[in-house]
Amino acid sequence: MDEERVTADQLAATWDSIRGQFFRGWNSDSWSCELSDLAQGKRLVCRVPEKQVYILPSLSPKELDRVIVHALCHARRGSGHEPFWSRRMAVIEQDALRRGLDDLAKGIREEIDGCEGTPDETEGLIFDWPLFPPRRPT
Ligand SMILES: [Zn+2]
Repeated sequence: MDEERVTADQLAATWDSIRGQFFRGWNSDSWSCELSDLAQGKRLVCRVPEKQVYILPSLSPKELDRVIVHALCHARRGSGHEPFWSRRMAVIEQDALRRGLDDLAKGIREEIDGCEGTPDETEGLIFDWPLFPPRRPT
């Protein structure tokens, strides 16, 4: 039972660090993140109407940064493990490599490859919600 778990302080620090490094062009200040069993066995839940990300309390600290990147890409790009999401993930993978964050880049690649075709964790997505306009070139 000496399995290492994420603490609230680790979560808060990693949440701010990931947003500061990889989501600077997007004002995510109204989003928040907490440890919660509301994740219901998934590693994360991204609840759009409340702008809330829930992280499974038993998540390994080693997975925390990549799972936050994963959640914020849903927050930014909407539901589905489809190209709209995976392309955003891949941009951050490359950014992480440029910053010398090889472990994070590898983790993001595992998220992209491992989540293809799996059920999404995004809830309450409203299709006319202002942050999610129909797909168009960026
Ligand atoms: Zn996902």
